[in-house]
Amino acid sequence: MSSRPRSGEDPSLVRWPAPGKAAGLACGWEGYAWTAAHLVGSGTMHAIPGLEAKVRRFALEELAAPAPKAASHLWGAGGVAVVCGRYASFDGSLRPLVRQSFRRWQATWASCPSFDLAEGTAGALLACAELDRIGCGTPFAKSLKPLQETCARALHTELESAEAGRASLGLLHGIAGLLLALVVGRAVLGLPVRRSLTDRAFEALCRHRFRTRRGLTQWFGWTGVRRSRRGSWCSGAPGITAALLRCAEWTGEERYLRLAVEGALSTRFYRTVARCFCCGTVGRSQVLIETYRVTGDTPWLDYALALRRLRGLEASPCFSLPGFFWGRLGLDYLDHRIRNPALPLPGLGPQP
Ligand SMILES: [Zn+2]
Repeated sequence: MSSRPRSGEDPSLVRWPAPGKAAGLACGWEGYAWTAAHLVGSGTMHAIPGLEAKVRRFALEELAAPAPKAASHLWGAGGVAVVCGRYASFDGSLRPLVRQSFRRWQATWASCPSFDLAEGTAGALLACAELDRIGCGTPFAKSLKPLQETCARALHTELESAEAGRASLGLLHGIAGLLLALVVGRAVLGLPVRRSLTDRAFEALCRHRFRTRRGLTQWFGWTGVRRSRRGSWCSGAPGITAALLRCAEWTGEERYLRLAVEGALSTRFYRTVARCFCCGTVGRSQVLIETYRVTGDTPWLDYALALRRLRGLEASPCFSLPGFFWGRLGLDYLDHRIRNPALPLPGLGPQP
């Protein structure tokens, strides 16, 4: 495929959902603004006239609305903070919006009942790491330690529950996401985490995998529950693989990569009915691109392309919906990433 930058008039980047309707990178306008920043910033797409002004307008309207309950950037107020941080890095006049969005977001951390990557503190920690890499570290340095400690406690609880027979293993709701947040928190933000805790999390992912009749490694989304979306980014092998690949990159530990490659093989072959990023084919294809990016082995890119070319993929009704996780933006971003695998994925924190 050509690597020529596409026009800034890409339809998925023109029609943003209104602020205050759906919050966060997963479903809200923030996912569009985040995507546009990375496409333009990487040279994948030509400059989009009026982009910064549009982000400022949307952010101001968002900040005037009540903050969502979630503490993460995928479903919570962290999405607008991450977007403001990114745009402030190339338009300094947006800096006051970073502080404003951060204060609004931080107020949700203590009250959010969830600790996972999708909605809770693990997502908040990864978003802080992303902001730190952009160069917005100062406004929140003091808040990081409690956030990391909350994630460590949540992972400990989830591991205890796994022993008792019921815990979530996946990226968005469980052990893989909490492990990733702690590994990234240590590598990027210098927040110490006990080695025994990350070891236990890795061992739990090893212990609760199983082999299919075809010899593929699989995970049920929840321990003790023999049903669930095994082929999904949110709860299945693709998401767990994405977390393991990042852990391998940040730690340099071979064990993470070995298990990730097992998960990637399963991601390639395990068929899903859903087509979207979160629960289906698009998410699987993205994980195969991610496997290529980390291992450098080109067949993974071919496997990703084969999934993208699945007959009838674009006709799926989900792609008439807006948003990254269950809508059209997820598919369009897959096309951009097939052309430029170095582009990041949302929600996983900064890319090494
Ligand atoms: Zn899903």
